[in-house]
Amino acid sequence: MKINVAVDGPAGAGKSTLAKAAAKELGFIYVDTGALYRSIAYYVIKKGADPKSAEQVVPLLDEINPELRYTDGVQHVFVNGEDVSGLIRTPEISMGASGVSAIPQVREFLFKLQKDIAAENNIIMDGRDIGTVVLPHAQVKVYLTASDKVRADRRYKELCEKGQAPSYDEVLADIRQRDYNDMNRDISPLRQAEDAVLLDTSDDTLEQALQRLVSLIKEKM
Ligand code: C5P
Repeated sequence: MKINVAVDGPAGAGKSTLAKAAAKELGFIYVDTGALYRSIAYYVIKKGADPKSAEQVVPLLDEINPELRYTDGVQHVFVNGEDVSGLIRTPEISMGASGVSAIPQVREFLFKLQKDIAAENNIIMDGRDIGTVVLPHAQVKVYLTASDKVRADRRYKELCEKGQAPSYDEVLADIRQRDYNDMNRDISPLRQAEDAVLLDTSDDTLEQALQRLVSLIKEKM
């Protein structure tokens, strides 16, 4: 029986940074499911289609083969054999991922891929619906959050470090818009699973948040 840890929460809550670091500490595989939605958005946008239009997106799913591959424990996402890991971290793709993720066929399309990885490995999987829909029987469920200003601040710094020049107000507006979209879509909306532990990291340093997360996982394992 593999150990599955589900980490959900809104954009910019530090899920990927924390889940990745916790996975390393525990010797688990870290699975970033947002990268899968982003990879679909990447392909759809490259084809000139509208990520919010089910009519335009659904026919393209037949042409998309998303894969997660791991090199030294680091996740890379491939679309039809191309490593798109570096290309999917832009504000345009973030919003596109939020668009495609509201389409039921897209969620269904990615469901099995996520399930299969979790069945075969000890994993920490992060996303929006992991504890509620993808892995409802995960041994550990965490709902990770922080205030929207703290999240925007972290995301802003992250983009600056990557050499992008975002406006802070735009980053905050984007976060709020994505929260709204993710929490209010009809299918698999973002919400805390009933049996998930709430971890609010607004006042934590990265190290503090990581220790809280790792302790919580060890306690529940
Ligand atoms: O986590 P990340 O910000 O990379 O996710 C990008 C978008 O993909 C989210 O805003 C959300 O709309 C969607 N997503 C989702 N379900 C997941 C993971 C991500 O709907 N499990």
